[in-house]
Amino acid sequence: MERLHAGWVVPVVGPPLRDGVVAVDGGRVAWIGPLGEGPAGEDVDLGPGVLLPGFVNAHTHLELSHLAGVVGPAPFVPWVRALIAARSGDTADVVRSAARMAMAAAAASGTAAVGDVSNGLQHLADLARSRLRAVVFHELIGWDPARAEEALAWSQARRAELDPQPGVEVRPAAHAPYSCSPRLLALMAAAGGPAAIHLAESAAETRFLADGGGEFAAFLAERGLGHVAFAGGARSPVDHAEACGILHPGLVIAHGVQTEAADHALLARRGVHVALCPRSNLALGNGLPPLPGLLAAGVKVCLGTDSLASSPSLDLLSEAVELHRAFPAVDPAVLVRAATVGGAEALGLADHGRIGPGARAAFAYVAAERPPSEPLAHVLSGASATGLFYD
Ligand SMILES: [Zn+2]
Repeated sequence: MERLHAGWVVPVVGPPLRDGVVAVDGGRVAWIGPLGEGPAGEDVDLGPGVLLPGFVNAHTHLELSHLAGVVGPAPFVPWVRALIAARSGDTADVVRSAARMAMAAAAASGTAAVGDVSNGLQHLADLARSRLRAVVFHELIGWDPARAEEALAWSQARRAELDPQPGVEVRPAAHAPYSCSPRLLALMAAAGGPAAIHLAESAAETRFLADGGGEFAAFLAERGLGHVAFAGGARSPVDHAEACGILHPGLVIAHGVQTEAADHALLARRGVHVALCPRSNLALGNGLPPLPGLLAAGVKVCLGTDSLASSPSLDLLSEAVELHRAFPAVDPAVLVRAATVGGAEALGLADHGRIGPGARAAFAYVAAERPPSEPLAHVLSGASATGLFYD
């Protein structure tokens, strides 16, 4: 038994504890409480800073880590084109070695679990050997509705042949409403999915779903898909997703930038989780998500970094700091919740995102020179976090 003492302990599911102690045993939290109480054990003084549960990055793409600095930042549709071109030269060795470095960097900056979007599924054994628990969203792309059944069957067969990896769960996912036909999305919904999709990310997407035109129409034509008839007709990307039947409580949508009050009400009613990735949104010129509106409607929010092809790092705390700067009126506790238990709920990882008996003994520690008077404000001050793993 080790007793971790910090200036503050933020359990997230309860009020911050000044001079808190977390007792860990066998890779799990055994007890949390004030200094001078609790079970006997070896005392470990972490310092006067703030101890939090390990962060949960609900939307990233570890398999794109080798593209850091290669394709972004750029406006959104040109960035998509550049990304596809860059990926055509991928080799498994390059993808996997960069992904392993990204996993290590994410864990070092306090991330304990990820929702990781993947087409290739080449790095699952690397994930199992990393510090990260992972829900891998196996991403399907298919704009031609005549091939929707075939695409779905292919992805199911691909997942069925995977070797099980400890700490890694693979779920079906869709890429986006401009790359997956309404028919494919409806088939995925009928099969209980998808578990993730990029939605309401760019103005180009909103335009395409509204009238079938704009940059994505040109992009699909370039890809040899100009023959697929699509007239749009959706009031918004969220409405389009609703019409396809994919909005359900097991869904994590990434972005949600192009949303308004009616979308927020619908997302809240359907119990959908929204992973906000503000640094990626800014890098691709998409603007910031309307956080106050999402919160006012009661939408479940969590945070993601997106990939290193659009984001400067996989440091999840930096996403919370970015939102804190942009929306200073939002309660810091809401942002810390989104970075931790919000992501754990989105991914269905009951033993992550909180410090309490039975939780995984994986933490983020934000150092301080002396115990801060406002621990959550200190966490969002721009100070960096360090991952601490006792499992
Ligand atoms: Zn993404």
